[in-house]
Amino acid sequence: MKSESLPNADVLQGTDCRLQPILSGHTQIVGVIGWPIEHSVSPPMHNAAFEALGMDWCYLPFPVHPANLKEAMAGVRALGLRGINVTVPHKKGVVALVDELTPAAHAVGAVNTVISRGEVLVGHNTDVDGFLRALRETGFEPEGCSALILGAGGAARAVVYALAGVGAQLVILNRTLGRAQALAAAFAGVSDAAHLRAGPLDEKSLRLEMARANLVVNATSLGMWPQVGTTPWPDDLPFPSHALLFDLVYNPRETCLMRRALSDGARAVGGLRMLVHQGAEAFALWTGREPPVETMFAACRAALRGGE
Ligand code: NAP
Repeated sequence: MKSESLPNADVLQGTDCRLQPILSGHTQIVGVIGWPIEHSVSPPMHNAAFEALGMDWCYLPFPVHPANLKEAMAGVRALGLRGINVTVPHKKGVVALVDELTPAAHAVGAVNTVISRGEVLVGHNTDVDGFLRALRETGFEPEGCSALILGAGGAARAVVYALAGVGAQLVILNRTLGRAQALAAAFAGVSDAAHLRAGPLDEKSLRLEMARANLVVNATSLGMWPQVGTTPWPDDLPFPSHALLFDLVYNPRETCLMRRALSDGARAVGGLRMLVHQGAEAFALWTGREPPVETMFAACRAALRGGE
């Protein structure tokens, strides 16, 4: 019988280093828990960063059903993982399952990054600084700005906490008014300079509030893949051309709302920068190394292109 010959992968030539094991007993493991998890771009983003810095680290996706969250967190300790990222729907649930919380994670009531210090798990929220860093990168100075926040879910909590901390004037509009009101009340005391109000997410409120706002943040899930045709902005209401739109949605990279804002003369930025910066902060917290942000950005762009 004729058999196919195996490639001579174990024959080294010159400076060939392909025999270097990809994973070894020394490899440090981090990862992300979520349900579902297969669409996450965090594994390619972090693994590209480890590779770029020649680090013996590996980032894995862990599909964790909500019913198994407690056991999964016990597993982080038991298996000696260096840390994990936490995504939908576990960001709130993990708060009660870590040993310590940073002030931001405590205030937001959500954890997106866990660091293992031996047996002790510390919960962080890197969405807060990730958002501010991404916003500042566009040239926008958030201190004392007037912002319109669309949505009052988990991402909106991080954004409102971040902007209240720099003394912004905030109007939170949400489909479920009670959630917007609860959010405004929760962060009213974050800074003396900040001022927070809440209202319903409808055309009347948008029309009334948009003139004052120099920043509009879409923190709803409208526009996100696969519902790419949806937007929180009414068709017959022009987007304020003096404002910057920050759409937290990162898939697709250009949302319906971003196209609308751009065509009405405003500036618009998508959520990918925030995703990269929250990941870069997690990377620095786990490894103590300077994150290769450009590499991480490129890996996310490539992963999102592949998913389209
Ligand atoms: P969430 O907690 O589920 O909140 C969803 C928000 O969208 C709520 O305010 C909800 O209003 C609103 N909403 C949903 N469907 C709506 C509809 N048909 N009409 C009007 N409002 C609607 O989700 P999340 O975690 O905050 O995420 C929100 C978005 O931010 C997602 O697209 C997510 O991918 C993105 N995100 C991006 C980053 C990043 O790094 N760029 C980080 C985190 C999240 P109700 O309260 O009325 O239900």
